Amino acid sequence: PAWLGVMGGGQLGRMFAQAAQSMGYQVAVLEPVLEPGATCPAGQVAQRLVNAGYDDGAGLDALAAQCLAVTTEFENVPAGSLSRLAQSVFVAPNADGVSVAQDRIAEKRFFVGCAGKSGVLPAPHKVIASEADIAAIDDELLPGILKTVRMGYDGKGQVRVRTRDDVRAAFAGMGQVTCLLEKMLPLAYEVSVLTARGVDGASVVYPIAENVHRDGILFTTTVPGPNVSADCAAKAQRAAQAMVAELAYVGVLCIEFFVLADGSLVVNEMAPRPHNSGHYTMDACVTSQFAQQVRAMARLPLGDTRQHSPAVMLNLLGDAWFADDSDAIREPAWDQVLALPGACLHLYGKDDPRRGRKMGHLTLVAATLPEAQQRLHEACLILGIAP
Ligand code: ATP
Ligand code: MG
Ligand code: MG
Repeated sequence: PAWLGVMGGGQLGRMFAQAAQSMGYQVAVLEPVLEPGATCPAGQVAQRLVNAGYDDGAGLDALAAQCLAVTTEFENVPAGSLSRLAQSVFVAPNADGVSVAQDRIAEKRFFVGCAGKSGVLPAPHKVIASEADIAAIDDELLPGILKTVRMGYDGKGQVRVRTRDDVRAAFAGMGQVTCLLEKMLPLAYEVSVLTARGVDGASVVYPIAENVHRDGILFTTTVPGPNVSADCAAKAQRAAQAMVAELAYVGVLCIEFFVLADGSLVVNEMAPRPHNSGHYTMDACVTSQFAQQVRAMARLPLGDTRQHSPAVMLNLLGDAWFADDSDAIREPAWDQVLALPGACLHLYGKDDPRRGRKMGHLTLVAATLPEAQQRLHEACLILGIAP
Protein backbone atom coordinates (compact mmCIF):
# COMPACT_ATOMS: atom_id res chain seq x y z
CA PRO A 1 0.00 0.00 0.00
CA ALA A 2 1.03 3.59 -0.63
CA TRP A 3 2.36 5.80 2.14
CA LEU A 4 1.31 9.30 3.15
CA GLY A 5 3.49 11.42 5.41
CA VAL A 6 2.58 14.03 7.98
CA MET A 7 4.79 16.61 9.64
CA GLY A 8 3.79 16.77 13.30
CA GLY A 9 2.62 14.16 15.76
CA GLY A 10 -0.19 15.88 17.68
CA GLN A 11 -3.89 15.09 17.70
CA LEU A 12 -4.44 16.57 14.24
CA GLY A 13 -1.79 14.21 12.88
CA ARG A 14 -3.43 11.31 14.72
CA MET A 15 -6.88 11.96 13.26
CA PHE A 16 -5.33 12.54 9.83
CA ALA A 17 -3.52 9.19 10.11
CA GLN A 18 -6.72 7.40 11.14
CA ALA A 19 -8.58 8.86 8.14
CA ALA A 20 -5.73 7.94 5.79
CA GLN A 21 -5.62 4.39 7.14
CA SER A 22 -9.33 3.96 6.66
CA MET A 23 -8.74 4.76 2.98
CA GLY A 24 -6.01 2.12 2.74
CA TYR A 25 -2.86 4.20 3.17
CA GLN A 26 0.02 3.62 5.52
CA VAL A 27 1.13 6.67 7.42
CA ALA A 28 4.55 7.97 8.42
CA VAL A 29 4.71 10.70 11.04
CA LEU A 30 7.68 12.99 11.54
CA GLU A 31 7.89 14.31 15.08
CA PRO A 32 10.73 15.22 17.38
CA VAL A 33 9.97 12.88 20.28
CA LEU A 34 12.67 13.91 22.66
CA GLU A 35 12.72 11.40 25.49
CA PRO A 36 13.39 7.73 24.81
CA GLY A 37 10.21 5.69 25.13
CA ALA A 38 7.99 8.77 24.81
CA THR A 39 5.16 8.71 22.28
CA CYS A 40 2.97 11.29 20.64
CA PRO A 41 -0.73 11.10 19.69
CA ALA A 42 -0.05 10.46 16.00
CA GLY A 43 2.97 8.23 16.62
CA GLN A 44 0.75 5.82 18.58
CA VAL A 45 -1.33 5.05 15.50
CA ALA A 46 1.13 5.54 12.63
CA GLN A 47 2.92 2.69 10.87
CA ARG A 48 6.16 4.59 11.11
CA LEU A 49 7.40 7.32 13.44
CA VAL A 50 10.33 9.30 12.10
CA ASN A 51 11.91 10.62 15.27
CA ALA A 52 13.56 13.74 13.95
CA GLY A 53 13.45 17.50 14.26
CA TYR A 54 11.23 19.43 11.84
CA ASP A 55 14.35 20.74 10.12
CA ASP A 56 16.42 17.57 10.23
CA GLY A 57 17.59 16.98 6.64
CA ALA A 58 18.05 13.22 7.01
CA GLY A 59 14.63 12.82 8.62
CA LEU A 60 12.96 14.88 5.90
CA ASP A 61 14.69 12.92 3.16
CA ALA A 62 13.61 9.63 4.73
CA LEU A 63 10.00 10.85 4.85
CA ALA A 64 10.13 12.04 1.23
CA ALA A 65 11.65 8.77 0.01
CA GLN A 66 8.92 6.69 1.62
CA CYS A 67 5.82 8.72 0.77
CA LEU A 68 3.58 9.47 -2.17
CA ALA A 69 2.73 12.85 -0.63
CA VAL A 70 3.43 14.77 2.57
CA THR A 71 1.22 17.15 4.53
CA THR A 72 1.55 19.05 7.77
CA GLU A 73 -0.58 19.14 10.88
CA PHE A 74 1.58 21.70 12.66
CA GLU A 75 1.45 25.18 11.18
CA ASN A 76 4.87 26.16 12.48
CA VAL A 77 6.97 23.63 10.58
CA PRO A 78 9.82 25.58 8.98
CA ALA A 79 8.74 26.59 5.47
CA GLY A 80 12.24 25.61 4.32
CA SER A 81 11.55 22.02 5.35
CA LEU A 82 8.43 21.92 3.18
CA SER A 83 10.44 23.31 0.26
CA ARG A 84 13.11 20.67 0.77
CA LEU A 85 10.49 17.91 0.81
CA ALA A 86 8.89 19.36 -2.32
CA GLN A 87 12.06 18.73 -4.30
CA SER A 88 11.32 15.00 -4.22
CA VAL A 89 7.71 14.45 -3.12
CA PHE A 90 4.31 16.13 -3.58
CA VAL A 91 3.69 18.46 -0.61
CA ALA A 92 0.24 19.84 0.20
CA PRO A 93 -0.19 22.49 1.39
CA ASN A 94 3.09 23.84 0.05
CA ALA A 95 5.62 26.13 1.72
CA ASP A 96 4.05 29.32 0.30
CA GLY A 97 0.61 28.71 1.77
CA VAL A 98 1.97 27.60 5.13
CA SER A 99 4.38 30.52 5.43
CA VAL A 100 1.58 33.09 5.02
CA ALA A 101 -0.31 31.51 7.91
CA GLN A 102 2.82 31.31 10.10
CA ASP A 103 3.39 35.01 10.20
CA ARG A 104 0.66 37.42 11.28
CA ILE A 105 2.21 40.23 9.23
CA ALA A 106 2.25 38.19 6.01
CA GLU A 107 -1.25 36.93 6.84
CA LYS A 108 -2.68 40.43 7.33
CA ARG A 109 -0.95 41.60 4.14
CA PHE A 110 -2.54 38.71 2.29
CA PHE A 111 -5.99 39.48 3.70
CA VAL A 112 -5.71 43.15 2.73
CA GLY A 113 -4.39 42.29 -0.75
CA CYS A 114 -7.20 39.81 -1.28
CA ALA A 115 -10.00 42.06 0.04
CA GLY A 116 -11.15 43.04 -3.46
CA LYS A 117 -11.90 39.39 -4.20
CA SER A 118 -12.86 38.16 -0.73
CA GLY A 119 -14.98 41.16 0.29
CA VAL A 120 -13.60 41.12 3.85
CA LEU A 121 -10.87 43.02 5.71
CA PRO A 122 -8.89 42.17 8.85
CA ALA A 123 -9.07 44.27 12.04
CA PRO A 124 -7.18 47.60 11.90
CA HIS A 125 -3.59 46.80 12.93
CA LYS A 126 0.00 48.00 13.14
CA VAL A 127 3.37 46.25 13.30
CA ILE A 128 5.17 46.90 16.59
CA ALA A 129 8.89 46.22 16.30
CA SER A 130 10.41 49.14 18.21
CA GLU A 131 9.86 51.91 20.73
CA ALA A 132 9.33 54.31 17.80
CA ASP A 133 6.45 52.14 16.54
CA ILE A 134 4.82 52.37 19.97
CA ALA A 135 5.16 56.16 20.03
CA ALA A 136 3.49 56.30 16.61
CA ILE A 137 0.42 54.23 17.54
CA ASP A 138 -2.78 55.86 16.37
CA ASP A 139 -5.30 56.38 19.21
CA GLU A 140 -7.83 54.59 17.01
CA LEU A 141 -6.00 51.26 17.62
CA LEU A 142 -6.53 51.36 21.40
CA PRO A 143 -7.75 49.50 23.32
CA GLY A 144 -6.23 46.62 21.42
CA ILE A 145 -4.54 43.24 21.55
CA LEU A 146 -0.79 42.89 21.14
CA LYS A 147 -0.01 39.54 19.44
CA THR A 148 3.37 38.00 18.72
CA VAL A 149 3.82 37.71 14.97
CA ARG A 150 4.91 34.08 15.17
CA MET A 151 4.07 30.94 17.15
CA GLY A 152 0.97 32.13 19.06
CA TYR A 153 -1.95 29.75 19.51
CA ASP A 154 -4.82 29.21 21.95
CA GLY A 155 -4.50 32.87 22.95
CA LYS A 156 -0.86 32.39 24.01
CA GLY A 157 1.45 35.22 22.98
CA GLN A 158 -1.30 37.85 23.26
CA VAL A 159 -1.83 40.66 25.74
CA ARG A 160 -4.81 42.99 25.96
CA VAL A 161 -3.68 46.62 26.12
CA ARG A 162 -5.53 49.87 26.84
CA THR A 163 -2.79 52.51 26.63
CA ARG A 164 0.59 53.11 24.99
CA ASP A 165 2.22 52.35 28.34
CA ASP A 166 0.42 49.00 28.40
CA VAL A 167 1.83 48.31 24.92
CA ARG A 168 5.34 49.23 26.13
CA ALA A 169 5.05 46.89 29.11
CA ALA A 170 3.57 44.05 27.04
CA PHE A 171 6.19 44.45 24.29
CA ALA A 172 8.97 44.32 26.91
CA GLY A 173 7.27 41.34 28.58
CA MET A 174 7.35 39.43 25.29
CA GLY A 175 11.09 40.06 24.97
CA GLN A 176 10.61 42.74 22.27
CA VAL A 177 9.89 40.17 19.56
CA THR A 178 8.05 41.69 16.60
CA CYS A 179 4.37 41.99 17.40
CA LEU A 180 1.17 43.12 15.79
CA LEU A 181 -1.18 45.48 17.59
CA GLU A 182 -4.80 44.86 16.61
CA LYS A 183 -7.71 47.08 17.48
CA MET A 184 -10.03 45.35 19.97
CA LEU A 185 -13.30 44.88 18.09
CA PRO A 186 -16.73 44.47 19.70
CA LEU A 187 -17.45 40.89 18.67
CA ALA A 188 -21.04 39.71 18.43
CA TYR A 189 -19.84 36.15 17.76
CA GLU A 190 -17.10 34.19 15.97
CA VAL A 191 -17.29 31.83 13.02
CA SER A 192 -14.95 29.74 10.93
CA VAL A 193 -15.11 28.26 7.48
CA LEU A 194 -13.26 25.19 6.31
CA THR A 195 -12.47 24.96 2.66
CA ALA A 196 -10.43 22.54 0.59
CA ARG A 197 -8.90 22.88 -2.85
CA GLY A 198 -7.63 20.14 -5.09
CA VAL A 199 -4.63 20.17 -7.37
CA ASP A 200 -7.00 20.71 -10.33
CA GLY A 201 -8.18 24.01 -8.79
CA ALA A 202 -11.64 22.75 -7.83
CA SER A 203 -12.63 23.75 -4.31
CA VAL A 204 -15.28 22.78 -1.79
CA VAL A 205 -16.54 24.53 1.30
CA TYR A 206 -18.07 23.24 4.54
CA PRO A 207 -21.01 24.75 6.39
CA ILE A 208 -20.06 27.74 8.52
CA ALA A 209 -19.27 26.94 12.17
CA GLU A 210 -20.01 29.18 15.17
CA ASN A 211 -17.27 29.13 17.78
CA VAL A 212 -17.22 30.05 21.45
CA HIS A 213 -13.81 30.60 23.08
CA ARG A 214 -13.05 30.45 26.77
CA ASP A 215 -9.76 31.75 28.18
CA GLY A 216 -8.47 32.08 24.61
CA ILE A 217 -9.11 28.39 23.82
CA LEU A 218 -11.90 27.07 21.62
CA PHE A 219 -14.67 25.86 23.95
CA THR A 220 -17.50 24.80 21.63
CA THR A 221 -18.30 24.73 17.93
CA THR A 222 -21.97 24.67 16.91
CA VAL A 223 -23.15 23.91 13.38
CA PRO A 224 -25.49 25.31 12.21
CA GLY A 225 -24.54 28.37 14.27
CA PRO A 226 -27.51 29.73 16.20
CA ASN A 227 -26.51 33.35 15.47
CA VAL A 228 -25.43 32.93 11.86
CA SER A 229 -27.65 34.45 9.17
CA ALA A 230 -27.80 32.96 5.67
CA ASP A 231 -26.25 36.16 4.35
CA CYS A 232 -23.31 36.00 6.78
CA ALA A 233 -22.73 32.31 5.97
CA ALA A 234 -22.73 32.96 2.24
CA LYS A 235 -20.30 35.90 2.59
CA ALA A 236 -17.88 33.94 4.77
CA GLN A 237 -17.98 30.89 2.51
CA ARG A 238 -17.42 33.04 -0.57
CA ALA A 239 -14.51 34.82 1.15
CA ALA A 240 -12.87 31.54 2.18
CA GLN A 241 -13.11 30.15 -1.34
CA ALA A 242 -11.70 33.36 -2.83
CA MET A 243 -8.74 33.13 -0.45
CA VAL A 244 -7.97 29.47 -1.12
CA ALA A 245 -8.03 30.19 -4.85
CA GLU A 246 -5.85 33.29 -4.47
CA LEU A 247 -3.24 31.21 -2.60
CA ALA A 248 -3.45 28.45 -5.26
CA TYR A 249 -3.56 26.27 -2.19
CA VAL A 250 -3.91 22.48 -2.17
CA GLY A 251 -5.45 20.88 0.92
CA VAL A 252 -7.74 21.87 3.78
CA LEU A 253 -7.62 25.48 4.98
CA CYS A 254 -9.62 27.02 7.82
CA ILE A 255 -10.41 30.74 8.02
CA GLU A 256 -11.56 32.34 11.29
CA PHE A 257 -13.83 35.38 11.16
CA PHE A 258 -15.31 37.83 13.65
CA VAL A 259 -18.88 38.99 13.26
CA LEU A 260 -19.50 42.47 14.69
CA ALA A 261 -22.70 43.80 16.23
CA ASP A 262 -23.79 45.37 12.91
CA GLY A 263 -23.44 41.97 11.20
CA SER A 264 -20.27 42.88 9.33
CA LEU A 265 -17.58 40.27 8.83
CA VAL A 266 -13.88 40.71 9.73
CA VAL A 267 -11.28 38.09 8.87
CA ASN A 268 -9.12 37.06 11.86
CA GLU A 269 -6.63 34.39 10.88
CA MET A 270 -6.18 31.19 8.94
CA ALA A 271 -4.85 27.73 9.67
CA PRO A 272 -3.19 25.80 6.81
CA ARG A 273 -4.61 22.44 7.90
CA PRO A 274 -7.65 20.78 9.41
CA HIS A 275 -8.79 22.85 12.40
CA ASN A 276 -10.23 22.25 15.85
CA SER A 277 -13.46 24.00 14.78
CA GLY A 278 -13.78 21.41 11.99
CA HIS A 279 -13.76 18.37 14.24
CA TYR A 280 -17.56 18.24 14.05
CA THR A 281 -17.17 17.12 10.39
CA MET A 282 -15.92 13.72 11.62
CA ASP A 283 -19.36 12.82 12.91
CA ALA A 284 -21.70 15.23 11.16
CA CYS A 285 -20.54 15.47 7.52
CA VAL A 286 -20.27 13.04 4.65
CA THR A 287 -16.51 13.67 4.33
CA SER A 288 -14.54 14.61 7.44
CA GLN A 289 -11.94 17.36 7.24
CA PHE A 290 -9.23 14.71 7.70
CA ALA A 291 -10.53 12.48 4.91
CA GLN A 292 -10.69 15.64 2.77
CA GLN A 293 -7.03 16.36 3.50
CA VAL A 294 -6.16 12.80 2.42
CA ARG A 295 -8.10 13.24 -0.82
CA ALA A 296 -6.48 16.60 -1.62
CA MET A 297 -2.90 15.50 -0.96
CA ALA A 298 -3.33 12.15 -2.70
CA ARG A 299 -4.70 14.08 -5.71
CA LEU A 300 -8.05 12.29 -5.54
CA PRO A 301 -11.44 13.93 -6.14
CA LEU A 302 -12.61 16.03 -3.19
CA GLY A 303 -15.46 14.63 -1.10
CA ASP A 304 -18.99 15.78 -0.35
CA THR A 305 -18.98 18.40 2.43
CA ARG A 306 -22.69 18.05 3.17
CA GLN A 307 -23.66 18.03 6.85
CA HIS A 308 -26.13 15.26 7.66
CA SER A 309 -26.74 16.08 11.35
CA PRO A 310 -26.79 19.21 13.49
CA ALA A 311 -23.79 19.05 15.81
CA VAL A 312 -22.12 20.62 18.81
CA MET A 313 -18.45 19.94 19.54
CA LEU A 314 -17.00 20.37 23.02
CA ASN A 315 -13.25 20.44 23.56
CA LEU A 316 -12.16 18.15 26.39
CA LEU A 317 -9.40 19.98 28.25
CA GLY A 318 -7.29 18.39 30.96
CA ASP A 319 -9.38 20.25 33.55
CA ALA A 320 -12.08 17.57 33.25
CA TRP A 321 -9.55 15.03 34.62
CA PHE A 322 -9.23 16.94 37.92
CA ALA A 323 -11.89 16.65 40.59
CA ASP A 324 -12.73 20.15 41.89
CA ASP A 325 -9.57 22.04 42.83
CA SER A 326 -7.54 19.01 43.89
CA ASP A 327 -4.41 17.86 42.07
CA ALA A 328 -5.62 14.26 41.95
CA ILE A 329 -6.19 12.98 38.43
CA ARG A 330 -9.13 10.71 37.70
CA GLU A 331 -10.68 9.52 34.45
CA PRO A 332 -13.90 11.37 33.60
CA ALA A 333 -17.13 9.34 33.71
CA TRP A 334 -17.11 8.25 30.07
CA ASP A 335 -19.77 5.63 30.77
CA GLN A 336 -22.22 8.42 31.65
CA VAL A 337 -21.12 10.61 28.74
CA LEU A 338 -21.47 7.76 26.27
CA ALA A 339 -24.96 6.99 27.56
CA LEU A 340 -26.08 10.29 25.99
CA PRO A 341 -27.68 9.65 22.60
CA GLY A 342 -25.58 11.03 19.76
CA ALA A 343 -22.38 11.25 21.83
CA CYS A 344 -19.21 10.72 19.75
CA LEU A 345 -16.08 10.62 21.90
CA HIS A 346 -12.59 11.23 20.52
CA LEU A 347 -9.60 10.92 22.86
CA TYR A 348 -6.09 11.67 21.68
CA GLY A 349 -4.08 9.12 23.64
CA LYS A 350 -2.38 11.69 25.89
CA ASP A 351 -1.65 10.16 29.27
CA ASP A 352 -0.68 13.29 31.19
CA PRO A 353 -3.69 15.57 31.61
CA ARG A 354 -2.90 19.19 32.45
CA ARG A 355 -5.31 22.06 32.89
CA GLY A 356 -5.87 23.80 29.56
CA ARG A 357 -4.40 20.91 27.54
CA LYS A 358 -6.53 19.50 24.72
CA MET A 359 -7.06 15.83 25.62
CA GLY A 360 -9.91 15.05 23.25
CA HIS A 361 -13.26 16.30 22.04
CA LEU A 362 -16.86 15.24 22.26
CA THR A 363 -19.34 15.80 19.46
CA LEU A 364 -23.06 15.55 20.09
CA VAL A 365 -25.13 14.92 16.99
CA ALA A 366 -28.92 14.85 16.97
CA ALA A 367 -31.89 15.18 14.64
CA THR A 368 -32.30 18.82 15.70
CA LEU A 369 -29.87 21.45 17.00
CA PRO A 370 -31.77 22.07 20.28
CA GLU A 371 -31.50 18.36 21.05
CA ALA A 372 -27.75 18.37 20.39
CA GLN A 373 -27.39 21.48 22.58
CA GLN A 374 -29.40 19.86 25.38
CA ARG A 375 -27.11 16.80 25.26
CA LEU A 376 -24.06 19.04 25.35
CA HIS A 377 -25.47 20.67 28.45
CA GLU A 378 -25.88 17.25 30.06
CA ALA A 379 -22.34 16.24 29.06
CA CYS A 380 -20.97 19.41 30.69
CA LEU A 381 -22.77 18.59 33.95
CA ILE A 382 -21.33 15.05 33.94
CA LEU A 383 -17.83 16.35 33.22
CA GLY A 384 -17.91 19.18 35.76
CA ILE A 385 -17.57 21.80 33.03
CA ALA A 386 -19.56 25.02 33.47
CA PRO A 387 -21.98 24.90 30.48
P1 ATP B 1 -5.90 29.94 17.70
O1 ATP B 1 -5.75 28.97 18.81
O2 ATP B 1 -7.30 30.04 17.13
O3 ATP B 1 -4.84 29.85 16.63
P2 ATP B 1 -4.60 32.45 18.42
O4 ATP B 1 -3.84 32.33 19.69
O5 ATP B 1 -3.84 32.42 17.15
O6 ATP B 1 -5.77 31.38 18.41
P3 ATP B 1 -6.48 34.60 17.73
O7 ATP B 1 -7.38 33.71 16.98
O8 ATP B 1 -5.84 35.71 16.99
O9 ATP B 1 -5.34 33.83 18.54
O10 ATP B 1 -7.25 35.22 18.97
C1 ATP B 1 -7.83 34.38 19.97
C2 ATP B 1 -9.18 34.93 20.36
O11 ATP B 1 -9.03 36.24 20.94
C3 ATP B 1 -10.12 35.14 19.19
O12 ATP B 1 -10.78 33.95 18.83
C4 ATP B 1 -11.05 36.21 19.76
O13 ATP B 1 -11.96 35.64 20.68
C5 ATP B 1 -10.09 37.09 20.54
N1 ATP B 1 -9.57 38.17 19.68
C6 ATP B 1 -8.46 38.12 18.92
N2 ATP B 1 -8.27 39.26 18.23
C7 ATP B 1 -9.28 40.08 18.57
C8 ATP B 1 -9.67 41.42 18.18
N3 ATP B 1 -8.93 42.15 17.32
N4 ATP B 1 -10.79 41.94 18.74
C9 ATP B 1 -11.53 41.22 19.63
N5 ATP B 1 -11.23 39.96 20.01
C10 ATP B 1 -10.12 39.39 19.50
MG1 MG C 1 -3.98 31.19 15.53
MG1 MG D 1 -7.66 31.88 16.35
